[in-house]
Amino acid sequence: MKLVFLALIPLILSIGITPALSFDFIPESDALKSKGNSLTEIGSKKICGDKLCSKMDSKHAMKPDMKMHSGSMDMHAMMDRMDKMHEKHQQHMMQSWDSMTFDEQSQMFHKMQKMIEKMESMDMDEHMKMMSNMGYKDHDKKMHKDSDDKHETVKYPTMKHPEKMRTAASLPEASMGPQIDYSKGYLAEEIKDGLYWITDGAYQAMFLTTGEGVIVVDAPPSIGQNYLKAIAEVTDEPITHVIYSHTHNDHVGAMSMFPDDVVYIAHQEIADTLSKRNDPNRPMPTVTFEDKYTLEVGNQKLELSYYGPMHESGNIFIYAPNQKVLMLVDVIFPGWTPFKDLAMAQDVTEFLAAHDKVLEYDFDTFIGGHLTRLGTVEDVQIQKEYFQDIQDSAAKANQQVSFMTIGQEIGFSNPWLVFQIYADQITQQCTDEVVPKWIDRLGGVDLFTYDHCWKISEAQRID
Ligand SMILES: [Zn+2]
Repeated sequence: MKLVFLALIPLILSIGITPALSFDFIPESDALKSKGNSLTEIGSKKICGDKLCSKMDSKHAMKPDMKMHSGSMDMHAMMDRMDKMHEKHQQHMMQSWDSMTFDEQSQMFHKMQKMIEKMESMDMDEHMKMMSNMGYKDHDKKMHKDSDDKHETVKYPTMKHPEKMRTAASLPEASMGPQIDYSKGYLAEEIKDGLYWITDGAYQAMFLTTGEGVIVVDAPPSIGQNYLKAIAEVTDEPITHVIYSHTHNDHVGAMSMFPDDVVYIAHQEIADTLSKRNDPNRPMPTVTFEDKYTLEVGNQKLELSYYGPMHESGNIFIYAPNQKVLMLVDVIFPGWTPFKDLAMAQDVTEFLAAHDKVLEYDFDTFIGGHLTRLGTVEDVQIQKEYFQDIQDSAAKANQQVSFMTIGQEIGFSNPWLVFQIYADQITQQCTDEVVPKWIDRLGGVDLFTYDHCWKISEAQRID
């Protein structure tokens, strides 16, 4: 039976343009119910999301009205032929389906789902290209290459699970930052009165000249030795103090490049974690603190504070009161959605609460540790609003989607399957609600909102 299905794939793909494909291939509920394992309702939602259904429906609706005739080319006749061909394959498919075991059906269902999602994300050009290619393998290679070429040029290709995506929505203005000279590899700029930020376009760190030595915060390996170059460009002062924002290697993995006699400052929990890591690239802190620590060197002052694990146990707020600059890494992402799963936050509630804590500070400039630009108070408010939307949509989906209903439809023999479908429905519903509201406001919401919806909806269920 699997063979029959596999043999059908190229055929199905080759008629990918046929309008009704995405839902008609989903087995009829009666047929399934007679076997006691209906997937229809769940399937039809997952496979034919709102966006696509309306797209497909409008295509259908267009058919009789649109003037498709051109000379002797009868497009109506062509569409009818396609429908007939499609019907034939569909019948064939359903015959196979009826004689399959539940496991086979489940496998086939998920393969179909993947395939259809892939086709849903194609535009008409890609469909046409695929049809003319017919050969499935070549087509697949070609599609990926085309998608790579078109990186970041597709407006809003799909709301489906981002792991299946090879393209992204075009970026909103808010996500743009200053130009970086990539031959140089970094940009270092004074924000105010001897406080500088440095970035390579993906990571950010900061340093201060004090008149008595340089204070450095973080050392991302992606910036690496360029950090030392950037400091040497603006001062002859030696580096004397180094602060850990938190332990994650991608922000502090180049900490060992500083002189041996520097003072390393970190929260006690960071010291505890680093002692377990035993990593020569992340030297042990020489000064630690619990709640607050004020560092005064020369004419500069930094206030370090800890309010809980908003990203990781021991991640601190670093505040320069004279310049009104606040640094908190991996929590607020000015102009962008955070990285997957609330930027890998250790604790969802603490992460969400971080927004209000940040807004208690009197700052003009925010350094988030990532991506294209510095932030403002408004950026923090915007991200807070984005997560409020996700929390609202996740709560609503948690109320509306029923675990028991899904279990009764597909059976409880594999509880993980029931849970996977249940969680995916909630997450997808939340994603579908949030993404259209935010796609023009923050970069990357098409890619990571699904993960945030998952993380927050799950926290709402278990925290
Ligand atoms: Zn981190």
